[in-house]
Order: sequence, then structure tokens, then C-alpha cells
Amino acid sequence: MLGDAAMIPSERYEEYYQALLEKKTEYEGLFYVGVKSTGVFCRPTCPARKPKFVNCEFYENAQQALLASYRPCQRCRPLSHPNHVPDLVRVLVEAVEANPEKRWTGQDFKQLSVDESTARRQFKKRFGMTFVEYARARRMGLALKQIRGGKSVIDAQLSTGYESGSGFRDAFSRIMGAAPALLGTDKKILKAAWIDTRLGPMIAISDEHALHLLEFVDRRGLEREVERLRKRTKSAIIPGVTEPIRSIERELADYFEGSLTAFKTPIAMLGSPFQINVWQQLMAIPPGETRSYLDLAKSLGKPSAFRAVAQANGANQLAIIIPCHRVINANGELGGYGGGLSRKDWLLTHEKNV
Ligand SMILES: [Zn+2]
Repeated sequence: MLGDAAMIPSERYEEYYQALLEKKTEYEGLFYVGVKSTGVFCRPTCPARKPKFVNCEFYENAQQALLASYRPCQRCRPLSHPNHVPDLVRVLVEAVEANPEKRWTGQDFKQLSVDESTARRQFKKRFGMTFVEYARARRMGLALKQIRGGKSVIDAQLSTGYESGSGFRDAFSRIMGAAPALLGTDKKILKAAWIDTRLGPMIAISDEHALHLLEFVDRRGLEREVERLRKRTKSAIIPGVTEPIRSIERELADYFEGSLTAFKTPIAMLGSPFQINVWQQLMAIPPGETRSYLDLAKSLGKPSAFRAVAQANGANQLAIIIPCHRVINANGELGGYGGGLSRKDWLLTHEKNV
């Protein structure tokens, strides 16, 4: 269920916020709200004082909220069935909150006097994810939050001569994967590395042959993207460097310097045939030029499909390389960008001047 579910469209936010203010029970299960000012997420009917609209982020399910670094609210207990809180589930959720960075094993279940298979079944039944998936989502959300909040740590490392990514590597190891030696030989491995650019740090994920993901570290929804990639490729993701990562690091440096316009690093496009089609159209837009969603839909021979084109555009996981920043509104306005509008503006201006 995770990741493949579309994000809640922004047109819904006001409706959901109103439902939240009025504690409307008919919205139970339709959305969860993350509260930026407190770091907790709630169900629509939470009895606690309601947050301001600007502090709300809306999610379709609990796992998305966990991945975005939110912890479950103590008042409305968003991980429990509204009318019944099974003790076993409550015990486990509380155990995770007491030690959110822990990796769970069968031994731990025994210590909590919990039967592992019962735990798995109860979690799956109620939340559509296993307990281990829950614990991982919580851990990963936390670690990425630390990475994002860790700018001062990284700056300190730079000034003392350490590699800038080492803080990232530690945090990333904690969340994503076991050390290579602990992995079974049948498990596919993707490696993740930190790349500094003049527009801010990026994360690159790749196997030995092709780059799978390139995103700004502060991109909204990055956690979900990484988790989706891990599931789709059935891989472990561990910190490390591959030839495609070395290649894209060099190419990005040249791109930002203005001496490169076409990337040659091999990429893996993981998407539906339609999405891949859209991404190829995006790559055909020359640097320095822009198109609208409608232009793209027309060039695909499907002029009425511009919403689907917009969605495929948003599902791009290879920022800059697949130039979704070259898509703007038909009226000439910038439109949106996952990496933030100021970056989009910078990239377009840069490409015009190269
Ligand atoms: Zn609450």
C-alpha cells in the first residue's frame, strides 16, 4: 500500500482542514494530519486543540505520516482502531516510541511477551503494514529528519576536514540497511551517496549499472520515494559509491559550471510505460526551453491527458537529469517543483545562459 498510493491533492487540504476543525467522524480513515509545530500526527477527530492550517500536512495513511517523521499522537492514537485499542498493538507502538531507532528481532518480541506471528497478523489486519514495516517507517522518518536538521554537523565536519557525507552515511546506515556482510547473497543492493551541489545537497541511489534516484535531500516526500524504490527493486539500500554515482557527481559539477548540457550517466527509469514515455518527452526538451503540460500531452498524441502527464512529471525520481523543471504553466508562470520554486527558477535561468 505504501508509496504507490498517490499523495493527497492540494485541492483537498481545505476540506480536510475543515473536517479536522469540526472533528467529523465520517473522515476517519480518509486522512491523517501531521502537525509541523508539534511533530505528531493525528486522526481527524483528535480531541486535542487544533493546529493552524499552515502547520498541517495531510496524509492518506499512517505509514506516510511516519515516513515524514511524525510520531503518533498520545491523545487520539492514530494507529489504533477508533473503537478498540488492542493491548498487543498498544504495547508495541509504545515500545517503538520508547526507543524509535531500534531494529526489531524475534528476541525483542519475547522480551515484551508478545508472539511474533500474532503481532504481524494484528498489525497487518489493522494498518495494512507489518509491525516491522511500522518500526522501519518510524526509524527512517526520524533519521531523515536528523539528516535534514544536521546542517551544522555537516558544516563542522567540512571545517575540520572530514568528508561532508559522513554524518549522512551514519544516519543512512542506521535507517536503511544492514552492513553488507549481514545481507543474504540473493539480496539486490543499491548504494546511496551524498552529493553536494551549489543548490544544496542531493542524494543519489544507484546499482552498479545505472542511477535509480537523484533528488535534493530536502525534497518533500523523499522518504516515500526511497521506500518505494526499495520495495520496487526488492533491494537493500546501503551507503556507498558506484560507478554511476561517480559519473553523475562529475557531470553535475560540469552542469552547474555551465560546461555540460546533456547527461550521459546511465539511468534506470522505474515507472509505467506511460510514465516512461512522459520522461522521455521531458528529456527531449532542449536546455533553455520550456513546455507546458498541454504541450507535452499533445506531443504524446494525447492532448486530453495533461493531468496524467502532470502526475508522471511529479513522479520523476531523477531531478535535473529528467528535466521536469522545464515544464511550466501554460500562462508562463513557473508552476510547481518538488525541489522548490527558487531552485526551479535558478535552473531555468542557468540553462538559458549556458
Ligand atoms: Zn491527536
